[in-house]
Amino acid sequence: MTDETRRAGARRVGQVKEVTSLSNPIIKDIKALTSKKDREQNGTFMAEGLKLIIDALELGWTIRTLVYAKAAKGKPLVEQVAAKTFASGGLVLEVSEKVLSSITRRDNPQMVVGIFDQRWASLDALQPEKDATYVALDRVRDPGNLGTIIRTADAAGAAGVLLIGDCTDPFSLETVRATMGSIFAIPLVRTAPDEFLAWRKRAGVEVVATHLEGAVDYRTVDYTKKPIALLMGNEQSGLPDALAKAADRLVRIPQQGRADSLNLAIATAVMLFETRRHLLSLDDIR
Ligand code: SAM
Repeated sequence: MTDETRRAGARRVGQVKEVTSLSNPIIKDIKALTSKKDREQNGTFMAEGLKLIIDALELGWTIRTLVYAKAAKGKPLVEQVAAKTFASGGLVLEVSEKVLSSITRRDNPQMVVGIFDQRWASLDALQPEKDATYVALDRVRDPGNLGTIIRTADAAGAAGVLLIGDCTDPFSLETVRATMGSIFAIPLVRTAPDEFLAWRKRAGVEVVATHLEGAVDYRTVDYTKKPIALLMGNEQSGLPDALAKAADRLVRIPQQGRADSLNLAIATAVMLFETRRHLLSLDDIR
């Protein structure tokens, strides 16, 4: 969002702004968030759905702009979220369904959309405890895979997702959708291979890399002694040799049938639930 739009928004604090025109500059700024460059410049991203926005606010995220459809006007939960948005100095827009469809690029959009500040954690802010599990992804390219992995990491109780090298943007609309809200629950770190390897030494984290040529069956490893980083390879080319060689273990998920490999998100899910098997119980309080 440009400074000018933000200042215009600030003047309207406490007052819902009605917008029906697709050429409204605030709407244009929001629509620009579909581009990675604009998201990076603004440091913001878009998330859809009332429940997801309420969860984000409960987790302490600050909403910059709330956009809702006219049909949602007066609904108590929407009003509550609008009040919170005003309280934190944000902007509230009531828009036509046509505007909401164009913002979300969907024919049947969610009634409510929120614009939030992006959050990145640093490696040194992570304080790995013995039971911590991290997912480290080497150059993940597919937004759906990344979203599914963030959601699965959250469900398995992982402590963070580390993006190594040139990865797809976790704050793209497609990835955020696929996380189903877990984008707000899991620390995300951007890093480079050498930084990642230096961190794991400093932090005493064991790197378990998954590889189609791994000699060790993933079910035979003891995951209970140290914090673990599960290192997963790129969808097309797998792990580069330098990362594979630096790992403490190279494990493989045995396969049958004709498939060469598992989908990255599926392989990550299998690994996560095995690594954390001793920590997961149906008695866990939700
Ligand atoms: N053509 C790639 C290759 O040769 O490695 C396939 C990559 S696979 C689609 C993406 C990643 O998922 C792999 O780098 C690995 O981390 C993980 N993976 C998939 N199937 C696996 C298996 N059976 N055992 C271990 N890791 C696996």
